[in-house]
Amino acid sequence: MPTDTNISANKDRKPVVLIVDDDASLRLQIHFTLENAGLAVVEASSGEEAVALFRKNPPDLVLLDVIMPAMDGFASCRALRALPGGSHTPVVMVTGLEDAVTITQAFEAGATDFISKPINLLVLGYRARYWLRSGSILNELKINQNRLFKAQDLARLGHWERDLDTDEFQFTCHSPEILGLTSHSCYDDLFSSIETEERERIRKLIDSAGDMEEPWSVHYRIILAGGDVRTMLNNGEVVRDDSTGHRHAIGIIQDITELKQAEEKIRYLAFYDNLTGLPNRALFLEHWSNVLPYARRSGKRMAVLFIDLDHFKRINDALGRSSGDKVLISVADRLKSILRTSDIISRSGEEQPASLISRVGGDEFTILAANIATPGHIANLAERIIKALVEPLQFGDYHAVLTVSIGISVYPEDGSEIGTLLRNAGTAMHEAKARGRNNYQFFQSAMNDAAQARFHLGNRLRRALENGEFVLYYQPQFASRSGRLTGVEALIRWLDPEVGLILPDKFLLFAEENGLIHSINDWVVREACRQAARWVAAGYFTGCRMGVNISGSNIDFKRLGVQVKEILEEEGLDPQCLEVELTERVMMENTEEAIEMLLTLKEMGVSIAIDDFGTGYSALSHLQLFPLTTLKIDKSFVQNLQTSGNSHSLLYSIINIAKSFNLKVVAEGVETEDQRLALCAMECDELQGFLLGRPVSCEKLEGQLKISGGQGFISRSI
Ligand code: C2E
Ligand code: CA
Ligand code: CA
Repeated sequence: MPTDTNISANKDRKPVVLIVDDDASLRLQIHFTLENAGLAVVEASSGEEAVALFRKNPPDLVLLDVIMPAMDGFASCRALRALPGGSHTPVVMVTGLEDAVTITQAFEAGATDFISKPINLLVLGYRARYWLRSGSILNELKINQNRLFKAQDLARLGHWERDLDTDEFQFTCHSPEILGLTSHSCYDDLFSSIETEERERIRKLIDSAGDMEEPWSVHYRIILAGGDVRTMLNNGEVVRDDSTGHRHAIGIIQDITELKQAEEKIRYLAFYDNLTGLPNRALFLEHWSNVLPYARRSGKRMAVLFIDLDHFKRINDALGRSSGDKVLISVADRLKSILRTSDIISRSGEEQPASLISRVGGDEFTILAANIATPGHIANLAERIIKALVEPLQFGDYHAVLTVSIGISVYPEDGSEIGTLLRNAGTAMHEAKARGRNNYQFFQSAMNDAAQARFHLGNRLRRALENGEFVLYYQPQFASRSGRLTGVEALIRWLDPEVGLILPDKFLLFAEENGLIHSINDWVVREACRQAARWVAAGYFTGCRMGVNISGSNIDFKRLGVQVKEILEEEGLDPQCLEVELTERVMMENTEEAIEMLLTLKEMGVSIAIDDFGTGYSALSHLQLFPLTTLKIDKSFVQNLQTSGNSHSLLYSIINIAKSFNLKVVAEGVETEDQRLALCAMECDELQGFLLGRPVSCEKLEGQLKISGGQGFISRSI
């Protein structure tokens, strides 16, 4: 009879039962029965012996007598349970006393089951087999659960389930704290550590996926108790429990922070240039396909600038590769800052796509300039790049002067596919090289001619400002009821010594593109205030306003406000006599600062007019947004009056709304008597237009003012 069995990990080995009983005859009976049932048996006559045997070779089942002299069954059971591997071996108590207390005690000590004496030996073999089988199933379950926990830990994963009909919630995770949760977390807790801005959105998304019985997959960021920010993936689906008919939302939560970081790293490597941090060719192409639909829809132009450094190889050879790298990095930085400040070209608002620079080759860069209004914008950008790059670069004792050659192709004129546009920009770039480098060329020569003319115009305008070739004309405005003069609008003219009188349409747009408009604005305000002050002093201009147009993008409103105030003081003009006219487009570009400046001016007593109201940008809400005193109805509106009945009623409502905001309404472009009568009938306050008076030189207007004897003259046509 074997008293000890080698329990090895052999599949075919017999299961081993350890019998612990101080009664040798009972041990023998049981031993015999179990061996006959095909089991291996080990015997121990006391609790201590059992523990020693178990420690050496854990059996598959223990039959443990309750009443033994030294260490009783309960104590033995506890001791066995505490041994390594002892927690999941089935232990069956053999008890003579079948009373509730003993049974309870047995289970408390960790027993799996009990049998009572006298033992029914006929069935013992079967029961032993049953205990063994259920023990091993339980064991496997535990092993699987441990594996699952291990896997959950490795995958940083938790599992949750919510009964959508009863709202019962379960969450299982071995280390819930890594997911920002605890083992007692409820459904609400799933969302509590999500970043505040995202919390509601994610919750709604998962809730409504549950309601619609659709699968979901979202990721979001959570903030752990220690402040760590992690990215979580939550996905799952709704399943129906066949037995209860209840719907369950079943989901997993997984910490995918590292995965995300790796993804970002991969994206960076795939889409950015390591040296300069600029987007690479792949991202450039991707960006193109993103902005193309917008350009198609809006009919806007885009430009591709192909920029190649001149003689870069020489720098590389002379200063070494690492200096060459530094050159490329500073070129990238300069390009970035140009595009950042080049508002006309790179402004990306709602809907409007941004421009993008990329490094596509060793010393080759490309710019995709989205949102181009005119080829002039692109020429302006190219000029700024050339200018910025010739600033010398310093390397220790050396400095290098860089020049670039730029080729430009324009969508849609030069191609509708990026491959074609890049090729054509490249061709133009070679043309720029051939023309002695350090210049830019459009792919289409017609555009070069235009650029050339622009270049001249830029120089001529600058000279015009220096030489005092600008003058102001003044167009009168009249009260529609009395016909009395209420003010004039100052309108700029260019008296070019060669060409003669040039109207603002021919040069202001260009001045706006190249930034000269800011000096022009300053000059106009100064000149108009000076003139008004003279007329006031002469007694010709009592109670009249001088209207001054201010335009351009990138206006520094703070500076402008200070400037206007200074001019008023220096010229000694009462702020009540000045009216500034701005279009909505100008005010909307930098809304906050514009409002601040306008408020300051308005408080001083300056009138504020919204100009060209009723054209493309108009919105009635702007009347509330800006501190206005006057609304100027665009002339196109007035001129539509005869042709469309619609515009009549629209105009009427605009006038009424403006009045409800306490604004004075001035109609521009009044050319016919019919228009005048219609506007009078609509109680438009003031009128301006060729019918009543054309813009005239200062001398001419002064003549008219003089005749009226200082009371403000009455329009002849009223
Ligand atoms: P605006 O501010 O709408 O000025 C009114 C324009 O309408 C003037 O054109 C004026 O001559 C013209 N006009 C006046 N009455 C009639 C009329 O009955 N019928 C028609 N068809 N036109 C009329 P102008 O002087 O050629 O100026 C054009 C635009 O140039 C101005 O439009 C304004 O936006 C801008 N501008 C003119 N002077 C200045 C200035 O000193 N500074 C700035 N920033 N912009 C100016
Ligand atoms: Ca105006
Ligand atoms: Ca206007």
